[in-house]
Amino acid sequence: MDCIFCAIIAGEIPSTKVWEDEYCYAFKDIAPLAKEHTVIVPKAHIESADKIYAGNSVYVAKIFEAIPKIAAALDLGDGYRVITNIGENGCQSVKHLHFHLLGGEKLPEKIV
Ligand code: 5GP
Ligand code: ZN
Repeated sequence: MDCIFCAIIAGEIPSTKVWEDEYCYAFKDIAPLAKEHTVIVPKAHIESADKIYAGNSVYVAKIFEAIPKIAAALDLGDGYRVITNIGENGCQSVKHLHFHLLGGEKLPEKIV
């Protein structure tokens, strides 16, 4: 399967690792949109948050259990933002579920 994030998880494309456990892999975004910008992906190819169901939701639960630990490791105690883009209108460019973890500075006004 031709998926950049599956290739990153497999180590076929180099990345700067921030966190890894049985269910997820987190790495620095190649084009950071904040002082701290990490991408968190499940270690299973799930297209987007629109494709979550009872059989794979454990990956989302485990990612959200990891997020406070990742944020602490990145020293984001002053707050941060987690975003996932979905599909065409959501401007999702990589079709492997991922959560953007943004912080390290006061972020721009939110849209929600
Ligand atoms: P999306 O637009 O799909 O929500 O986010 C995809 C993110 O993946 C973008 O922020 C983009 O910079 C990042 N990205 C795309 N390709 C690579 C890559 O090869 N390495 C890393 N580290 N990040 C990538
Ligand atoms: Zn993938």
